[in-house]
Amino acid sequence: MQLEDVTEFKVQLRGSLIEPTDPEYEKERKVYNAMIDRKPRLIAKCADVADVMTAIHFGRKHNLQVSIRGGGHNAGGLGVCDDGLVIDLAPIKYVHVDPAAQTVRVGGGSTWGDVDHATHTFGLAVPSGIISTTGVGGLTLGGGIGHLTRKYGLTIDNLLAADVVLADGRFVAASANENADLFWAIRGGGGNFGVVTSFLFQAHPVQMVCAGPMLWNLGQASDLMKWYREFIVQAPKEINGFFAFLTVPPAPPFPEDLHFKKMCGIVWCSTDPLERANEILEPLRAFRRPAFEFFAPMPFPMLQSMFDGLYTPGLQWYWKADFVNELSDEAIALHIKHGSELPSLHSTMHLYPVNGAAHKPKNDDTPWSYRDATWSEVIVGVDPDPANKDQITAWAKSYWEALHPYGAGGAYINFMMEGEGEDRIRATYRHNYKTLARIKAKYDPDNFFCVNQNIRPHSNGKPL
Ligand SMILES: Cc1cc2nc3c(=O)[nH]c(=O)nc-3n(C[C@H](O)[C@H](O)[C@H](O)COP(=O)(O)OP(=O)(O)OC[C@H]3O[C@@H](n4cnc5c(N)ncnc54)[C@H](O)[C@@H]3O)c2cc1C
Repeated sequence: MQLEDVTEFKVQLRGSLIEPTDPEYEKERKVYNAMIDRKPRLIAKCADVADVMTAIHFGRKHNLQVSIRGGGHNAGGLGVCDDGLVIDLAPIKYVHVDPAAQTVRVGGGSTWGDVDHATHTFGLAVPSGIISTTGVGGLTLGGGIGHLTRKYGLTIDNLLAADVVLADGRFVAASANENADLFWAIRGGGGNFGVVTSFLFQAHPVQMVCAGPMLWNLGQASDLMKWYREFIVQAPKEINGFFAFLTVPPAPPFPEDLHFKKMCGIVWCSTDPLERANEILEPLRAFRRPAFEFFAPMPFPMLQSMFDGLYTPGLQWYWKADFVNELSDEAIALHIKHGSELPSLHSTMHLYPVNGAAHKPKNDDTPWSYRDATWSEVIVGVDPDPANKDQITAWAKSYWEALHPYGAGGAYINFMMEGEGEDRIRATYRHNYKTLARIKAKYDPDNFFCVNQNIRPHSNGKPL
């Protein structure tokens, strides 16, 4: 690659091209997880579809490794690569709401905060995650679990269509009627199949929700987990609640006597009116009264951004995950042992329900092959201080190793680190892996898009 090639590339882009010698390079090469320290050769900040096509042609011509960056939240750092080209979609940021059709067209570099802001005005919401700074791109393509999962399904269940730039630079549309195999693959297959420049989502009438955390002392964790495992499999789908071990942050609304205390909790989100939501939760309050609760009606975007201030960009992250079908007494005892040893204020364990409406599609309707799982579990070591990186990693690994035998086999790909191995990816997609490998061979036969939870293209004659 000559200097003239880079200059020509720069001229062709409507967005900007950042090189290691540029003053903004240090800022631009960073991703959300500060443990990731990669140094790309070039960062193409793409302003539109034409820029993405140009970047792909350039990457191909110069045989560069290419990564796709949406919101930059991937804990494994899959949005950035060493020595290669980052296709950064951040400038492709727009949200167009069609209130009559209740659909939303979203640019490939948008965040969920952008979407919530735009849809809320119209009394609508798209099911997403729990932190508003997360990218629409990565979260959607991996599946998308959040506060509305039990009511309206995973984010992929609400994806109607997408515009995709393929590995050969072609621009195609994907939907149930056009390139249906590609549309199937991007609903869970991650960034393996192309760069999605635009998403079309089904939105739902959600404006106010009754939501927030309830917290209990760790001495009650066993009773709570046993109550929760029964409740969440038969609860009305209007209510979502994820279980957590956490350390109480030293800030309002938490009372001072609880600050820095390790506790367990459930973070609720109900789309019912307050009276009905309380009716459902009253038996829980009667069973074990929470030490603290902040359960109240609130605008949906307030819930979506409730934890943004705690989990700011630039922290050290290491996480391990599994899908879970059942919580046995033995598994609960292990959870309590490791959950009581949270190594830092930010470290946590979440059990997200993936049942309710998310159980409606069949295991092969989308690549997400765990429609029968009850939870997606994630054990998260987080700390601002790089000096504590080994400690949080060791805690997450030992917690996961203890619980993994009680898991369902695979894990949510968006809760995996880089390099967990092909076995983990195959275990996650199960019987859908073969179909994904065939579709990969059709749309990306050279595995051009390989900085992801990689699905290797199936080559004819070789066993899958
Ligand atoms: C604080 C935090 C909270 C989270 N909460 C949730 C949650 O509640 N629910 C949930 O489901 N997940 C959650 N996640 C996981 C999240 O879904 C993944 O980290 C996801 O990869 C983030 O997407 P991104 O676009 O920000 O990531 P990036 O790092 O930008 O991209 C990750 C990968 O996604 C692919 N990709 C991204 N955008 C595109 C695109 N437009 N076209 C093609 N490929 C693309 C690429 O393969 C890329 O390598 C959370 C992560 C963090 C760090």
